[in-house]
Amino acid sequence: MIEEGTDCHYCGEENAVILCLGCGIPLCNQCVRLENYGFGCDGGKVVAFCPDCFTDPSINTVLKFE
Ligand SMILES: [Zn+2]
Ligand SMILES: [Zn+2]
Repeated sequence: MIEEGTDCHYCGEENAVILCLGCGIPLCNQCVRLENYGFGCDGGKVVAFCPDCFTDPSINTVLKFE
């Protein structure tokens, strides 16, 4: 998980709370984009992306299916 006191690497202003699943940078609550992977056999899970990865179909695979 994330180290306490890590700054968000996207805005650099807030404390990071989660890591981007695509590029791995720490993100704060303001910058994180959550995607609900609600299909598949594991019952669905919520994953976190930074705004860049969220809009990249090669990283955020949910976009491919829409
Ligand atoms: Zn941020
Ligand atoms: Zn990212």
